Amino acid sequence: MSNEIKRCCKRVYAGSFTGHMCALPYKVTRDGHDYCGIHDPEVVKKRRKKSEEKWDRESKARNEAWQREKRAYRALAYLERNFPGWEAADALQSAETPAKAIP
Ligand SMILES: [Zn+2]
Repeated sequence: MSNEIKRCCKRVYAGSFTGHMCALPYKVTRDGHDYCGIHDPEVVKKRRKKSEEKWDRESKARNEAWQREKRAYRALAYLERNFPGWEAADALQSAETPAKAIP
């Protein structure tokens, strides 16, 4: 006599140590377990993949920015080592050719 709505089988851990059962009604059955639209393992897998791809993209961008910064520091060290007073020389040159664009 179980005529109550079948619910998602996932236990949700949010704000309590023991957690509670997901309150949403089930939407799909996978391997004999009922899941709501949020906890459907296929949906969870897709969501995780999407967030991993996002993380990978962002981490690649962070790494490229960091590599660029390292090159800039190396370039600066090179200038300071080989061209003492290069800043003054640069200021002099840009005063002579103010319209020159930075590449
Ligand atoms: Zn659920």
